[in-house]
Amino acid sequence: MEEVFGVFGDPVEHSLSPVMHNAAISALGMKARYHAFRVSREGLGDALLGACAMGFGGVNLTIPLKERALELGFLEPDALSRGIGAVNTVDFKDGIRGFNTDGVGALRALEDACGSIRGKRVVLLGAGGAARAIAFQFASVGARVLIVNRTEERGRRLAESVSSVGGDVEAFGFASLGELLDSAHVLVNATSVGMYPLVNRTIVTGDMLHPGLVVFDIVYNPLKTRLLLEAEAAGARIVTGEMMLVYQGAEAFRIWTGVMPPVDVMKRAVLDALGV
Ligand code: NAP
Repeated sequence: MEEVFGVFGDPVEHSLSPVMHNAAISALGMKARYHAFRVSREGLGDALLGACAMGFGGVNLTIPLKERALELGFLEPDALSRGIGAVNTVDFKDGIRGFNTDGVGALRALEDACGSIRGKRVVLLGAGGAARAIAFQFASVGARVLIVNRTEERGRRLAESVSSVGGDVEAFGFASLGELLDSAHVLVNATSVGMYPLVNRTIVTGDMLHPGLVVFDIVYNPLKTRLLLEAEAAGARIVTGEMMLVYQGAEAFRIWTGVMPPVDVMKRAVLDALGV
C-alpha cells in the first residue's frame, strides 16, 4: 500500500512541501505520496490522531499550527521544539512526537556556504517563528547570537529563553545595528522584510555591510532580495533562502524514514516551482 505523508496548515495550497517531498519520493523509488491538507487550529488534534490511526508516515505543520501543536496533551515534543515553542514535524512511529527542523535547515544552508559557525558572531534580524528556531539552533552549536528586532521586548524575551538553556545570546534595538555589523561574521534576515510583494524593502543597506561578511536571507520569494543585491554589491558573500526550506524538509524526511533524501533533487523541484 502507498504510504501517506503530508503537510497540515491553513492556508496550505501554496506550500512548496508537496513538490519537494514528492520529487524525493520519486527519486528514491518509494511507494508513497505527500499531500497538502487544510487543517484548522481547532481541527489539529483530531487530524493528528486520525493520521496516526491511519498509519501516515509523518506530517509537517505550517501556519497556524506550529505553536498550537504544543497545546495538545498527547503530542510529545523533543527538547528543541519545546524550547522554540513550535513543532513543524510530527512522527508517528513511537507515540505522536514533535520536532522542529527549521533551525537545522537554516544551519545546514548557512554552513554549506561558510563552514562552521561555532564561535562566530551572528546578527539575527527578527524574533518571530523562524528567528526563534534559528536562535535556538545556532546557539546550540556555539555561535554568539545577537538578536535585533523591531519590537525590542520580543527580541529580549527570545534572548532570555535561549540564554536559559545555556545559549550565548543578547538582544538589541535597531539603533545598535551599524555597530554590531562592523564586527559580525554573519548577518541573517529572519524577518519578512523584502518578501514579495514589498520587494524593494530592506532593514540593512549596503553601506552597513563589509566584504567578508556572510549575508543569509531566509526569504525565498524573491530568491535575491534587495538585501542580498546590496550585500553582493558591497562584496559580502550571500546565501539565498531556498536551501533552508530544502534542508528543513530533508531533516523531516530523515526523521520519518531514516533515509537522507537527495537534497539536489528537492532543490530543483523548489526552484522549478518558484519559476527560477
Ligand atoms: P513571523 O513569525 O510573522 O515574524 C516576522 C518577523 O519579521 C518579526 O520579527 C517582525 O518583527 C519582523 N517584521 C515584520 N515586518 C517588519 C518590518 N516592516 N520592519 C521590521 N521588522 C519586521 O514570521 P516567520 O514565520 O518568522 O517568517 C519570517 C520570514 O521568513 C517570512 O518571509 C517567511 O516566508 C520566511 N521563512 C523562510 C523559511 C525558509 O525555509 N527559507 C522558513 C520560515 C520562514 P516584530 O516582532 O517587531 O513584529
